[in-house]
Amino acid sequence: MRKNIVAGNWKMNKTLQEGIELAKELNQILSTETPHCDVIICTPFIHLASVTPLVDAAKIGVGAENCADKESGAYTGEVSAAMVKSTGAQYVILGHSERRAYYHETIETLAEKVKLALANGLKVIFCIGEVLEEREANRQNEVVAAQLASVFSLTAQDFANIILAYEPVWAIGTGKTATPEQAQEMHAYIRSLIAKNYGNEVAEDTSILYGGSCKPSNAKELFANPDVDGGLIGGAALKAADFKGIIDAFN
Ligand code: PEP
Repeated sequence: MRKNIVAGNWKMNKTLQEGIELAKELNQILSTETPHCDVIICTPFIHLASVTPLVDAAKIGVGAENCADKESGAYTGEVSAAMVKSTGAQYVILGHSERRAYYHETIETLAEKVKLALANGLKVIFCIGEVLEEREANRQNEVVAAQLASVFSLTAQDFANIILAYEPVWAIGTGKTATPEQAQEMHAYIRSLIAKNYGNEVAEDTSILYGGSCKPSNAKELFANPDVDGGLIGGAALKAADFKGIIDAFN
C-alpha cells in the first residue's frame, strides 16, 4: 500500500536559528496527535544535523534538498549523499525544477545523484514537471516521460525507495495551482508509465505527490484524487500553521 505524504521544501530560506525554531514548532504542534500521513521536512544542508535530533522521528522525517553527483573528493562546495545521510536525514529531493533550470541539472546528472543517494540509504523525492510553454504546446506528457528516464533504469527494488513529485513549473511559487483534474490526469499518466516499466504492483505502491502553490485552502481538493498521494510544499511549508493545515487535509 502506498503512503500518503506531505513533504516541505524550505528551499534557501531560514537561518539556522529560524530553521530550528520552525522545526521545534512543527514538532510541538504534531506532538499531541498522530498525522494521517507521513510528514517530511526538507531543509538546507546546514540545518540537517541540528534539526534531525529535534523532531520526533516517528512523526517527522528529515531530508536534504539536493546532493552531489559524485561520491567524494575535490568538488569544492558540494555535499555528498553520504554526508547527508551522516546527519541523520533519511530523504533527499532530487530533480527540482529550480535545480534543473538554474544549475543545469540534466537527466544524466540526476541519474547519478539518484544512484548515489540510494546507495547511501536515502529515499529520493524525485521531481518532474513541465514548463508553461510545454503545457501550452500540450507536450507535458512527453516532457514528464523523458524526465522519468533518470529513475526508470533502477531495479524495481531500488525504485521502491523513490517518491515522485509532479510539479508543473508554471505552478511553483506562482499562486497558480494546477486544477485537481489536471493533477489527477498527469498523476494517472505517470502511474501508467510506472506500470509499463515495473508492473502494476510497483505502480500501485509508488507515492506520487503534487507540488505547485499547494496550500491549506486547496490541499483537500487536490489530495482527494485517487492518484494524488500528497504534496511537496514550498512556500506554505515555511509557516508551521500553514504546513499543518495541509497535513490536516488527510484528516
Ligand atoms: C516547490 O518548490 O517544490 C513548490 C511546490 O513550491 P510552492 O509550494 O511554493 O509552489
